[in-house]
This record gives sequence, structure tokens and C-alpha cells, in this order.
Amino acid sequence: MTTATREETLGFQTEVKQLLHLMIHSLYSNREIFLRELISNAADACDKLRYAALDNDGLYEGDSELRIEIEHDQEAGTVTVRDNGIGMSRDEVIANLGTIARSGTAEFLKQMSGEQQKDARLIGQFGVGFYSGFIVADEVTVRTRKAGTEHAEGVEWRSRGEGEFSVADVERPLHGTEIVLHLKEDAKEFADDYRLQSLVRKYSDHIEVPVRMPKTETAKDDEGNEVEGSEVTTWETINEAMALWVRPKAEVSDDEYKAFYKHVAHDFSDPLTWSHNKVEGKLEYTSLLYVPGRAPFDLYERDGARGIKLYVQRVFIMDDAEQFLPLYLRFIKGVLDTRDLSLNVSRELLQQDPQVDKIKSALTKRSLDMLKKLAKDSEAYQSFWNTFGSVLKEGPGEDHSNRDKIAELLRFSTTHTDSATQDQSLADYVSRMKEGQQTLYYIVADSFNAAKSSPHLEIFRKKGIEVLLLSDRIDEWLMSHLTEFDGKKLADVAKGDLDLGDVENEEEKKAQEETAKAKEALVKRVKEALADEVQEVKVTHRLTDSPACVVLPEHEMGFQMRRIMEAAGQALPEVKPILELNPEHALVARLEGTEGDNFADLARILLDQAIIAEGGHLDNPAAYVQRLNALLSA
Ligand code: ADP
Ligand code: MG
Repeated sequence: MTTATREETLGFQTEVKQLLHLMIHSLYSNREIFLRELISNAADACDKLRYAALDNDGLYEGDSELRIEIEHDQEAGTVTVRDNGIGMSRDEVIANLGTIARSGTAEFLKQMSGEQQKDARLIGQFGVGFYSGFIVADEVTVRTRKAGTEHAEGVEWRSRGEGEFSVADVERPLHGTEIVLHLKEDAKEFADDYRLQSLVRKYSDHIEVPVRMPKTETAKDDEGNEVEGSEVTTWETINEAMALWVRPKAEVSDDEYKAFYKHVAHDFSDPLTWSHNKVEGKLEYTSLLYVPGRAPFDLYERDGARGIKLYVQRVFIMDDAEQFLPLYLRFIKGVLDTRDLSLNVSRELLQQDPQVDKIKSALTKRSLDMLKKLAKDSEAYQSFWNTFGSVLKEGPGEDHSNRDKIAELLRFSTTHTDSATQDQSLADYVSRMKEGQQTLYYIVADSFNAAKSSPHLEIFRKKGIEVLLLSDRIDEWLMSHLTEFDGKKLADVAKGDLDLGDVENEEEKKAQEETAKAKEALVKRVKEALADEVQEVKVTHRLTDSPACVVLPEHEMGFQMRRIMEAAGQALPEVKPILELNPEHALVARLEGTEGDNFADLARILLDQAIIAEGGHLDNPAAYVQRLNALLSA
């Protein structure tokens, strides 16, 4: 028995307490995952030692056969998971097993309340694996020693998972880590050979490090009776112990791919799809990329975890290598194993390596192809789109070379279905274009309903021309980069002059010109009355039901984008809108017959209404109300 010295008791960080509480209460029905988590940590520790030993093989301390061992003791009610990996120093034990290091996790825990608390799956993705031991154990003991240190530098950590833990120095001849779970009364079932073996196969088959369990054999005498004292214990490897991505595709089952995904992505739920490729030639790499079924909590955080796991010739190099995929594909998870980089590559070196860019562009194509394939299953693709669509919309702006491919993957709401669900592709739209229509039309507004009921759509409804209804924050930015599809232009119906191309016939165009002539005097008067507010006044044929609308010059930033930027505190140069009047409308006819101050007031009311209908805010709403009331009571 070793003697413990320098013993101290420390409190868990508040977030750890919250996490323990959440986990113990919400993961109950899924509690077998503790074994996966502990094995996963042990495998990571072996990976880290293998990597560190590249420079200094003394770290193996003469034992370079990396392995994980699982033992149990039915009588004592314990399960032990042991590895001969990198191990931890005292300071590392305190930091790693007393706090939650990952940024964002604390914030996430705060937000997780009420109903969400029950959604246990959510907590799987935070790298909180170690604490899952407390789902089945009422006491956990960790003994560890950092590889390459003195035997006296071992550390023992103990906790009952109730707010505090103790650490002490212990003598420890073996480097690596041993975790002993003292099982709760109702979790004793896990101290069982068969149960443990089947869990290892279920969750950890793909782990490259062998996972071994002891097997006791007893010699039998001639009559088949066990010979007392003849027990020999041998270690039996339980898992496949081969990196999954190295195996030929045909030999890997869907269940194995899914289990591996859960390991790399720290996710509890299944991926939507995956793509496994071996490439030989100029570049040599194997990649296994996944599309997750759910969004991580930090998808939109600038420093959120992203990227794939990087291996060089099967040696684990780093997690979250973000250099191999563009930002707009940051939801993709997986593994890259390559021969094209050196083993001592670092994050800094990755940024300069020209091979990295080549692999990045290859993986980008793979990912887009994988999504294209997924799109054939409309239900699965819809689920993807609802989760990650607004991230993919960053694509055309970020990656010009793949713009057309990305454009095919986009989905929109349109007037064709009038549904808020974004489920129509640009190709769908093109297939429904009217004869003579050369342009794809869209409108951007603050919400789906605002887009759908915008006065700008009136003429399009009348003519039966479809319009894409855009209301995501990113949409205007997206459309500024997506100016063409399938050789046809895309146009914002609220910008520039309205040109319906050949959908309108010569007669209609002539009639419009005549109306414009007939209303010249009116237009001039309105322009004078509103000289400070608008840059131009026109008669329009966009409208059928509304008296007026505002539009912007073609190359101006749109209304929605302006509002987003202003809300973010950006000072923007003022842009006066163009006011367009519907010559067929009764209010416009009335305006024409009005004189003096009343004329200016009515013109101003029409302008203000057009701004409101478009989703904008009036500088002086009270003045608008007064004018309108004066008109109503006249
Ligand atoms: P994660 O594995 O996502 O980092 P965990 O809660 O599973 O989160 O583990 C927390 C940390 O504790 C790990 O990052 C690692 O530094 C350390 N750790 C856990 N288990 C081991 C082990 N067997 N050997 C060495 N370090 C470990
Ligand atoms: Mg872990």
C-alpha cells in the first residue's frame, strides 16, 4: 500500500457541480456511455504519449506497447479502466478533473434549464466525458503519473461527486492513468464480464489502441474437474483495435461508422451521412467526413470548436484542425489522416503549408458532393438544411470557386409554396419560370411574413411569377455574392427598375409609357413636396393593391442589411429611397386632385406608409399619426 502525502481537499468549480447534477439526473437511461467516455479518454492519452514520444522515446519508460485494460471485481463492486498513456501531473489532475476547461461550456450550462435539462443528449458534446463516471459510481478514484516523471510523482484523486475532491501524492511505478469506479448499488450490473465486453464492442471497436480484459483459465483433470490452484490469467483483446478509417469501406458497417462518429464528434445522436475516401497519387490521404444531425451550441461563436481530427500516418496530431475546411463547412466533423504532412506539424506550420490548401480544396469538394448526395433524400436534406442552412449560405461569399456547386445546395421559401419552410432549390424555381422570364426574382425582408406580404410582390402575383422570399439575416449578403444561377440573373424586386422581360408584352409596355407621360405633372409636384425625403419619384406598374412603395437603386445596400448594421452600431451614409406611385390607385387619384398643404401631407402619408409596409421605422411616427388623423377626420 502506498502512503499518500500532501493531501488536500478542493471544491469543484461551480460548473462542474451543475454538470454532475445534470448528468446524474438526466443521463440515467443512457448510463452505459460512461465506459465509452473513459475508454475514449484512455485512447486519447495513448495517442498523446505516442505523439510526445516521437521526440523522446524515453517517455515510454520501456513500455511502448500502448493499451487499455478493463477489470472488474464483482464482490467489491468496482470497475477499473487503466491505460499506459501520457498520464497527468498533480496540477493537470486538479485542472482537468476539477474544472471544465472548454470555453462556452459554462455559458451553455447556465442556459440549460427547464425542459432542455431533460434533453440529455445535448451535454454529450462538451468534452465532459470523465464526469460521466459518476452516473454509475458513488465514488471514483483516479491514480495517475505523467510519463517520464519520477515514481514518487504519482497522484491520487478521489471524489464522491458531491462538490469536492481530494488529491494526494502517491508512489506509482506505472505511468498512465487508472480509474476505479465504486459502483452504486443499482449499477452493480456493470461489474460483469459479458456486459463489459459487449459495451467495449458496441462503443469502442474502432479505437486503435487494444482494449484488453483479463481471462482466467483453469486447467481440468482427466475427469473434467477444475484443478485447484491452476488458474492462469491471460489478457484478451476485446476490440477490433484498428483505426476505422484505415479499413476498407466494404468491411465497415453503418453501425460502426455511427459509433465512430459519436467518438470523434462527442455527440450522442447519429450523423446524417458520411463520406469515407482513400486518395492516392499526388496527394495521399484518407478522410472520413460526417454531417452531424444536430448543431453544436457554438456554431455561430467566433472561437467555437471546429475542424477535424488530424492524423499523420496514423499518429494523432491534433483535434479541431480548422485549416482543412472552409468556415462555411465548419459543421462537418471527422478525421483526416495524411502522409503529406510531417509528424511534427503544428497549428502555425499548418497555416503556411501549401499541401494544406490542396487537401482543403479536395475536402471541400468531398463535402459538397456528400451534401449533393444527401439532397437526393429530401427528408434528410431538409433536416440538414433547417440545422445548417444558414451556415452554408456563407459559402458563395467565402468560396467563389465553388459558388455554382453551393448554389445548387441552397434552399429557399418562395411564393410558389408560401410556406416558411425553406425547401425549394434554385433549380426548382428555374423549372417553373414563365415563358419569356429571364431573371430569378427575390425579396429580402426582416421576417418571412413581411417578405410574403410586401407590396413589391403585387405585380408578380398578378403575373404569376414566382419570387424567392428571403428573411434570414445573412440573406442579403448571400445574394450580393450570388448574382447568377444557371446562366440567369438574380434580381431583388425592391431594387432598381422593374423589368419583367418578355413576360410583359409590347402593348403593356406602351401603356406604361403613356401612363408615365400622363402623370408627369403629378410626379413633379410630389418630388417638390418630398424633396428632402426621396431621391426620385416615379409611377410604377409594380403595384396592384397598394398606392405606393419605396425602392432602392440597384447597387445600394438593401433595407434589411442597413437595419442589421445600424442595430450593430454602424454609422451608415444616409440613402434616400425612390418613391414609386401606383397610378391606378384611388389615393393617388385623390392626391392628384388635392392642392396646397393638404397635397404635401397626403404625399407624405403615402411615403410613410410605404416605409412602414417595407418594414422600416419612421423618424417621427407621431407626426405621421397626426397627419393621418387629420386626413381621416377631414
Ligand atoms: P475531454 O476528453 O473532452 O477533454 P473529459 O472530461 O473526458 O473531456 O476529460 C477531461 C480531461 O481530463 C482530458 O482532456 C484530459 O486532459 C484529462 N484526462 C481524462 N482522462 C485521462 C486519462 N485517462 N489520461 C490522461 N488524461 C486524462
Ligand atoms: Mg473525453
